[in-house]
Amino acid sequence: MAPNFQNRIRCLRGWMEHAGVDAILVGHAPNILYLCGFSGSSGALVVSRDWAVLITDGRYDLQARAEVKTARIRIHKADPLDAIGEVLQGCRLRTIGFEAHHLTVAGRRALGRCVRNSVRWKETTGAVEGLRAVKDSFEIAELRASAKLASGVVEQVVPLLRPGIRELDVAAEIDFRMRNLGASGPSFETIVASGPRSALPHASPSRKRIRKNELVVLDLGAILRRYCSDLTRTVYVGKAPARVRKMYNAVQEAQAAAFASIRPGIPGADVNQAARHVLDLHGLGRFFVHSLGHGVGLEIHEEPRLQPGAKTRLQAGHVVTVEPGVYIPGFGGIRIEDDVLVTPRGAELLTRPGGDLLEL
Ligand code: ZN
Ligand code: ZN
Repeated sequence: MAPNFQNRIRCLRGWMEHAGVDAILVGHAPNILYLCGFSGSSGALVVSRDWAVLITDGRYDLQARAEVKTARIRIHKADPLDAIGEVLQGCRLRTIGFEAHHLTVAGRRALGRCVRNSVRWKETTGAVEGLRAVKDSFEIAELRASAKLASGVVEQVVPLLRPGIRELDVAAEIDFRMRNLGASGPSFETIVASGPRSALPHASPSRKRIRKNELVVLDLGAILRRYCSDLTRTVYVGKAPARVRKMYNAVQEAQAAAFASIRPGIPGADVNQAARHVLDLHGLGRFFVHSLGHGVGLEIHEEPRLQPGAKTRLQAGHVVTVEPGVYIPGFGGIRIEDDVLVTPRGAELLTRPGGDLLEL
């Protein structure tokens, strides 16, 4: 299976018609990759109602020609803005959209200078991101493979957790095994947090050694053929006390409630609330200090969001993380995170289920 770039550009053109723009300038690399397959880190894609041009530099000449079949390629020698200006000049474009979330103030100013004054520049938000949120069958297969890979890494690494090993060593093992299994690298800096440090939701791995009778949070994700996964497991080194078991069971129950709530049509905020409600009942709501989840795809954090105020309704084809957690300062934290595909019937787990609290 291969991505259908023509269809993706067709969908973007539908959006453009609706938004009243004659062309759109796409500069955000994951959006360019999504629309035409170009994986270089520097470039711009201009899509009009009837043509598409990728502008990049000499470093990416061969790569662009190998990767991109559905857009013309233009290699610029000096200033990319001049090349963009030349592409846009003489095309009788009146309104050109740009990605408000991805263009700097300086970039926006420069755009104003690169084409004639009669062109109107229009801010757009989430044009490509909205398309990317709903995964096609090619992407679902890739995300499933990426999630399986991350699950495999956890299964390899958990047996290595023992008193005396440093968090950094565990993180290195995770990253090494990920690549060994075929990933190009981690989708974010791997988190290994033990003991009281597990109460920091985004702890960087440190030189701290894991000790007996500690919680250990592992949060990792792989990039496999460009698609990200994101998975968290929490284990206990030793025999867990009742307080830890209770916390773990509450987080597990919160995640199950979120899974059960997932179906097309439900707003992201309501899925978040389903999990929060369970933690509130256990008296742990105030320790759940982040939102429940996020879309995952070509980027590790993308649309849709499962957070308070998120009005976007879930649709079949969305892929989201579901990651409730509780973090008690000075004591420790527990998070369980899985990747889920929204289907017409509900939620399908892409990661392998973590199960009950593992005591090592
Ligand atoms: Zn994560
Ligand atoms: Zn996450």
